[in-house]
Amino acid sequence: MDIDTLISHLRHTLGPRGVVSAPDALRTYDADASMIVSHAPQVVALPTDSVQTAEVVRAAASAGLPVVARGAGTGIAGGAIPLRGGVLLSTARMDRILSIEPESRRATVQSGVVNADLNARIAQLGMQFAPDPSSQRAATIGGNLGTNAGGPHCLKYGVTTNHILAVEFVNDDGELVWTGDGVPEASGYDLTGLIVGSEGTFGVVTQAIVRLTPLPEAVRVVLALFPSVVTASSAVSKIIAAGELPTSLEVMDHNAIRAVNGAYGLGLPEAEGTTLLIVEVDGVADGLDLIMAEILEICRGQGAFDLRPARTATEQARIWTARKSVAAAIGRLAPAYYLVDTVVPRTRLPLMMAHVERLRHEHGMEVCNVFHAGDGNLHPLVLYNPRDPDQVRRAHAIAHGVLHLSIAQGGVISGEHGIGVEKRDYLPLLLSPAEMQLQAAIYTIFNPDDRFNPAKIFPSDVCPQTLAAARRARLSAGRETPPSPAAAGEGGWGGEGHPPTSIEELSQQVAACHRTRTPVAPTGSLNPNLQPPTPNPQISTRRLNRTLQYEPDDLTIGVEAGMTLAELRAILAEHGQILPLDVARPEDATIGGLVAAAADGPRRLGYGTLRDWVLALTVVEADGTVSRLGAQVVKNVTGYDLVKLFVGSRGTLGVIASVSLKVFPRPKVSSTLLVECPGRDDAFALADDIAASKLQPTAVEYIFGPHTLPGESTPPSPAAAGEGGWGGEGIHLAVRAEGHPAAVERHRRELADLAERRGLAAPRELSGAEEERFWAALVALTDSATAPDEALVRLASIPAELRVALAQATELAKKRGLSLSVSARALSGVAYLRLRGDLIGLAGFYSDLIARWRHAHLLAGPGELLAGAPTWGAPHASLALMRAIKVELDPYGTMNPGAYIV
Ligand SMILES: Cc1cc2nc3c(=O)[nH]c(=O)nc-3n(C[C@H](O)[C@H](O)[C@H](O)COP(=O)(O)OP(=O)(O)OC[C@H]3O[C@@H](n4cnc5c(N)ncnc54)[C@H](O)[C@@H]3O)c2cc1C
Repeated sequence: MDIDTLISHLRHTLGPRGVVSAPDALRTYDADASMIVSHAPQVVALPTDSVQTAEVVRAAASAGLPVVARGAGTGIAGGAIPLRGGVLLSTARMDRILSIEPESRRATVQSGVVNADLNARIAQLGMQFAPDPSSQRAATIGGNLGTNAGGPHCLKYGVTTNHILAVEFVNDDGELVWTGDGVPEASGYDLTGLIVGSEGTFGVVTQAIVRLTPLPEAVRVVLALFPSVVTASSAVSKIIAAGELPTSLEVMDHNAIRAVNGAYGLGLPEAEGTTLLIVEVDGVADGLDLIMAEILEICRGQGAFDLRPARTATEQARIWTARKSVAAAIGRLAPAYYLVDTVVPRTRLPLMMAHVERLRHEHGMEVCNVFHAGDGNLHPLVLYNPRDPDQVRRAHAIAHGVLHLSIAQGGVISGEHGIGVEKRDYLPLLLSPAEMQLQAAIYTIFNPDDRFNPAKIFPSDVCPQTLAAARRARLSAGRETPPSPAAAGEGGWGGEGHPPTSIEELSQQVAACHRTRTPVAPTGSLNPNLQPPTPNPQISTRRLNRTLQYEPDDLTIGVEAGMTLAELRAILAEHGQILPLDVARPEDATIGGLVAAAADGPRRLGYGTLRDWVLALTVVEADGTVSRLGAQVVKNVTGYDLVKLFVGSRGTLGVIASVSLKVFPRPKVSSTLLVECPGRDDAFALADDIAASKLQPTAVEYIFGPHTLPGESTPPSPAAAGEGGWGGEGIHLAVRAEGHPAAVERHRRELADLAERRGLAAPRELSGAEEERFWAALVALTDSATAPDEALVRLASIPAELRVALAQATELAKKRGLSLSVSARALSGVAYLRLRGDLIGLAGFYSDLIARWRHAHLLAGPGELLAGAPTWGAPHASLALMRAIKVELDPYGTMNPGAYIV
């Protein structure tokens, strides 16, 4: 198809308003906000829905042209520039909010919906879409997704990837593909996490199911003024180190203040060096002022000379509008700016800011600093005149200097803007040749013909296909004859007899297996009860249990994969920190194993899951190559998010050798309130009341069955279960509140009121050791070591459908004569079902269940049951794509074959 035929085809498909082809008009689309480079497309297509978008992609393919997706074009890394011409696909007309489901805290939107429009609409329902880039009045959800955008409030709420549940995109064949249906941790690789941050190179995102977060009851904002950007940065790391977790910690230096002071009537001093730290905390009103007072005390100690609270919501809104307008207002100070986006561990901020100051003097340029300090995300804006080549050179020299020191300090080259064109030549500074190959391997699965957004992310002199081919060649090299089975039995390939004691040794063992194409089953725990049955030689990571890099003041830790959760807890406890993950047998469960299984716990409601906390992984690839994914910083958009791909990959893509995690300050107080409910409906009605209130519990667990509650019995064990410990009928709702004592007291008070209004008994309170015992007992329900007549099923649903799912599961269990115990995350849609009965009953139950609820996973049970049942539930819609990933990364199928859905 030639270009004229393509244009008339697009006009026919999209209508006259759906196509732009006049040369003058095309120039409007030749750049984004980066001003780095410009290149006009040959035609602009503006579809209105998914079907039209797919048609545009197919038509472009017939014409042999690339497709570049564009949202609002506010990107500052050149991501949406059509460097090779072709079709620019604008989502400007895909701006419909398709559904809002407040009870499931999610909405489905077209990708062209503007972030602020979505927020305005859901604010009426008391909800927010938490990522709030300063550009949110123009930027689209598709663009936010493309760049994994952050914003001032991401310190508390996380970045875009933490708020996207599933996406629909048009793939290379012009087909519409969903990465999931938004159900939490559905089985299979995390394709959603992989696509977020892929900068339009994996396809065109047409729709997204986004997570909605309740708006807080109260917000406090204080402006703290410091004598310098370095002292303000020191205050930021001290605040984080003290265990306070504000909603926002944003820095604006004197140039940023000057840019917006007058326009927004901030009345702030503008003297050279003066730096503003915007501190925001939010949550339930109780205790919020006391939390802020503690933070301000730290600010005073670090040299804050003036503290100005924003007393009204209007004042607060004005401050945020001013903060988000700095980049636009900078035009008052200079014709242009070059914005450097980089992230370092938070404790390195003062050092970085001093370096920026040095570079500014050295190169004789003006720099404006306005940035997400709480995340360690620097944004020096170098002010310059683009018509002056010397200034352009100096601006780039400063950027170069900043990025180099950032990398040396363990930082990354983009925290939220992406690599695009701007940083592509920096990528090899951060990634090893093997890591570049791994990135390219993923690229070629989605984009084999460079159809989508070519010439982005990868260095200008590098072809991703060549890199991917080099990886394939690497993996196919060096085949050897397998040893005899006898030798294998003696641990000749590093089997279970010789668990490696270093990552190098692990790598050698995997390489040895690879050379003979011998399958490998990576395992964590050495406890045989917890290891899934496998005919393959096992390599246990259990002897890899060292701490690699603990930065308590950054709230991050890096450990080897074989460290157990109990060991990790003990290390964190010395610094008053926690990993809020409660699982069965923490003394046996290894961190690597938990990450590989994407384990979750009851506190996911308040803290998220491992998917949100894993910052970096070291993985041993199928041929033994050691690759590092991610970095130990809290924001990172440097290449594809392969960390997400490996979380939950169950050893099928490589062995996880080390894990870097985000950790949390131990809350000042924790309390669990246990409400006994006469029936399931009462429990779910109370859960609804909690969801509709302004309370912010960290766990709301629905419990059905005879749980051993503290004081009544010892925590359940398989032995206790054998004595009939699981057979009763009690229904409880357990609500956990954590944080400031006043906030916890508020939860206690209000929950008692809510229970009373429902005619329920007063909650029973558990705290201290009793509370810990309670949760340990509860999560023991999810222990995968089962008695011979037991099965354990994980059921995931959309939160609003959980009660129906559980009602049906109860009916099915009754019909099959099984006893059933349930522990369910009532507001998150995840339930663990523990069943007991004969084999025929268990098999019948599971088969009936997955016929109605596709996201059921048979975690454990009698061998005959596991052998005959589809343990991963109904087939995943994107299984073909997952298989393609598996084949590309593990072409000889040696990584944990048969152990996973793929
Ligand atoms: C003044 C200003 C302030 C900013 N502040 C922030 C901030 O606080 N935080 C932050 O993270 N960023 C910020 N940015 C950068 C930018 O606004 C964000 O990256 C934003 O997410 C881009 O959205 P967009 O709709 O403009 O996307 P575009 O710029 O149009 O595209 C960005 C990338 O996403 C891809 N893309 C867009 N839509 C799709 C789709 N439907 N399918 C697949 N790929 C797609 C594009 O190909 C491109 O690679 C700021 C920019 C400006 C100009």
